[in-house]
Amino acid sequence: MKKKIIWSAVILLVTVPLLFFSVLFGLNWIKMQNPDYYYNTHWCYNRLMYINAGKEQYKVAKDLTNGVSVLWSDISPYVRTSDIYCLNEGTYTLGRIGESPACSLHGVYTNWKYNKK
Ligand SMILES: [Zn+2]
Repeated sequence: MKKKIIWSAVILLVTVPLLFFSVLFGLNWIKMQNPDYYYNTHWCYNRLMYINAGKEQYKVAKDLTNGVSVLWSDISPYVRTSDIYCLNEGTYTLGRIGESPACSLHGVYTNWKYNKK
């Protein structure tokens, strides 16, 4: 009886981590097959993050309320990098103050799911 319990514990201790790591490997395998896709989506996500942060800083600096429309020239002093563009040539929509910026290909900043090309 005791041997059976020990053996099932051993089997569990071997199979559960094995399953765990094979799933991890499987997920990375998918990423390895599409390096450009993952690089580009992360690039785009970071640019939307910069835009979002720039809008927030602009809002605080000018003491604005939500709903005020924003131009590129307004937020450009507050955006950290100058290379704000999508590698897949999507176009960015700034949105008003309080709204999230979006890429026409990669989606809205806050609803990011990495499932759009
Ligand atoms: Zn994009």
